[in-house]
Amino acid sequence: MEDRKQGEPRQVRPCPICGRPATLEDRPFCSKRCAEIDLHRWLSGAYTIAGRAAGPQTDEAREDEDDGRPEE
Ligand SMILES: [Zn+2]
Repeated sequence: MEDRKQGEPRQVRPCPICGRPATLEDRPFCSKRCAEIDLHRWLSGAYTIAGRAAGPQTDEAREDEDDGRPEE
């Protein structure tokens, strides 16, 4: 999930891989190629997260942030 909302007037969301408008056939991707890329990315990402805790996106990390982080 990425914040790439560019205020599209249509309901067509940009391809999460390359950012091009998705097609009806391959949505939410623009092509089957991007769909496969996303699949591989998801699998590799899930594998990484499941295997190793890579990333500060954990409950403990969030508690640390709440400990005192001024918002600028
Ligand atoms: Zn694409």
